[in-house]
Amino acid sequence: MTDHDVARLRRDFPILERRVNDRPLVYLDSAASAQAPRQVLEAVDRYRRRHHANVHRGAHTLSAEATEMYEGARARVARFLRAGDPRGVVFTRNATEAINLVAHAYGRHRLREGDEIVVTVAEHHANLVPWHLLAAERGAIVRGVPLGSDSRVDHDALVAAIGERTKIVATYHVSNVLGNLQPLRAVADAAHAVGALFVVDGAQAAPHVPIDVAALGADAYAFSGHKVGGPTGIGALWMRPEVLETLPPFLGGGEMIRRVEVDRSSYADIPMRFEAGTPAIGEAIGLAAALDYLDDVGVEAIWDHDRALARHALARLAELDGVTTYGPEGPDRGGIVPFNVDGVHPHDVASFLDAEGIAVRAGHHCAQPLMHALGVDATARASFWLYTTEAEIDAFVDAVARSRAFFAPLRTAL
Ligand code: PMP
Repeated sequence: MTDHDVARLRRDFPILERRVNDRPLVYLDSAASAQAPRQVLEAVDRYRRRHHANVHRGAHTLSAEATEMYEGARARVARFLRAGDPRGVVFTRNATEAINLVAHAYGRHRLREGDEIVVTVAEHHANLVPWHLLAAERGAIVRGVPLGSDSRVDHDALVAAIGERTKIVATYHVSNVLGNLQPLRAVADAAHAVGALFVVDGAQAAPHVPIDVAALGADAYAFSGHKVGGPTGIGALWMRPEVLETLPPFLGGGEMIRRVEVDRSSYADIPMRFEAGTPAIGEAIGLAAALDYLDDVGVEAIWDHDRALARHALARLAELDGVTTYGPEGPDRGGIVPFNVDGVHPHDVASFLDAEGIAVRAGHHCAQPLMHALGVDATARASFWLYTTEAEIDAFVDAVARSRAFFAPLRTAL
């Protein structure tokens, strides 16, 4: 994308006009939650003003319209994932709930004592804790694959960790800390060779890389609306329909049933079987609008833009004394840059930057095992998206340099 393209896209994001602490907002926290373009805000607003009603059960016009829009959103998600059959798409609250759904509906019924779940040390807690809960309940074992010497998950070790006892392999597509795109095909093949389910945490990939669930060999793929420019409170689980339709429900209630008697019930076909209660209708419609927007911009172009910005940020931060960055370098590195300023707590760095209108995240990024593997408790993290400019990265790097100078006297005093 040219500077001109980015400038044009930025006009779609009203929030980017904001000032924070009397400076123009520099929003470098898109990996936590991306900003929404007006096309999404307007789609949600239009739905609420003109079409809102409960879905699936009304005989009236508004309910029929809402149902058509909601089911249209499901088909849109299926197209986004190149998944074909929309029956494989279940709307959830977020990626976290999507992974929990797999752990419950699949894991609790398929795992036995001594079975194994293979993950990596670089997973987000959303792709660890559901497996810990499952393992504790079923007497299964969670195996974590370490980093290799190049700050990437050791790919060969990941494939090699999959064995006869493996029932689930769950890993990320793009890391929320290392920023890299993980090659998954060999992992999928190894999982399938032993009959294991291959679950992909796509929370950080969906906003940045084209996704083709069949080409990846995924059996399940999870992502969140708020990271792709959509609303919060909506996410999706795609699962191969042949697997999904063999699973029992996760949550029970209205909408997910075929027939209910006072002492028993039978359940609807997929995907309704997994959507108990009134869903997040407007949010699903907003998510579909976000996916339209992403595809209009072109996900390949976004990935190229992210990678160019990451290269620029890493090169400029490398010029600064006393600043450490984490994660690999290479063509697989997207727009996520964790860093630390020597001797300064990342929260203090983030507060310093905030005073200059620059939003970054600080903490363990819900990846404590990875923090341990990197030898730190926490980092600051700048993350980029389609609206991020090189000038913003320069402003950010200059502010990081100033933060080091600002905190230097405090450091020597300690
Ligand atoms: N996986 C990864 C890699 C993430 O970055 C995140 C969000 N930080 C999640 C899962 C969970 O997403 P959510 O909080 O929207 O469920």
